[in-house]
Amino acid sequence: MDICDKIVDVRKRVNAWKKEGLTIGFVPTMGYLHEGHKSLIDAARKDNDRVVVSIFVNPMQFAPTEDLESYPRDLQKDSQLCKDAGVDLIFHPQPEEMYADGFCSYVDMNGLTTELCGKSRPIHFRGVQTVVLKLFNIVKPDKAYFGQKDAQQLAVIKRMVKDLNVDTEIVGCPIIREPDGLAKSSRNTYLNPDERKAALILSRSLKLGKELIESGETDSKKVIKAITDSINTEPLAKIDYVDIVDFSTITPTDKIGKSALVAVAVYIGKTRLIDNFITQ
Ligand code: AMP
Repeated sequence: MDICDKIVDVRKRVNAWKKEGLTIGFVPTMGYLHEGHKSLIDAARKDNDRVVVSIFVNPMQFAPTEDLESYPRDLQKDSQLCKDAGVDLIFHPQPEEMYADGFCSYVDMNGLTTELCGKSRPIHFRGVQTVVLKLFNIVKPDKAYFGQKDAQQLAVIKRMVKDLNVDTEIVGCPIIREPDGLAKSSRNTYLNPDERKAALILSRSLKLGKELIESGETDSKKVIKAITDSINTEPLAKIDYVDIVDFSTITPTDKIGKSALVAVAVYIGKTRLIDNFITQ
């Protein structure tokens, strides 16, 4: 397995693979890898001849008040996980490599980014789209793998690829959870033992909402209220949003049918956690 921090070195390898007619699967990440990331790598490994993982904490998608500096990093551990999972190449650039002096081109979107996380993180998706398109242009993947954990991000990337005719297939992968139900996240490391227990309120409340829908409830307001009331029973939890939108357009839906994204963002102490499910 190679680790490259320069774009030119990634291009050399990728172009050689392309010449040989090999397919490339790509998993973009911010590192501090866990089983959720590994499930994406496993899917990429299964479908493609070569697998590339990027590890880059992208400054452009963090607001000045957010956790860019404290975001956990452990390249050594990440490298071992990737090696064990059969990754061929890690791309681990420094910010200067991705954003040269004078950088001023961005990818933006008029829809899909205004609801959910877009409300409390207004610059976030512009940063995500810009870096993902740059990474696609560097890695030239046949397929790229994204987790449903970040469902709005998955919808945004699918839309961007369609709108801009990017020749990469986007593959969505299910949420991987801890045995007690907490969605795996690099940010779970911020939680102290009390907060870790309190964090279970996200998956528990979503389960309650899911059961309501499965029992025949289609009124979004009622399901949102039930989930909200449940989260509010946890003293350490502070809701950012509880919402139900259409998964592909990320627009609010009053009546729950198929492909409704039921999503929450909740602060547990200072840590902002997200979780969701999509109706069948
Ligand atoms: P991140 O490193 O947090 O930017 O995540 C990189 C990719 O891994 C994104 O596509 C995430 O949606 C995905 N991911 C993160 N956590 C999970 C999880 N628990 N289950 C599945 N995918 C995940």
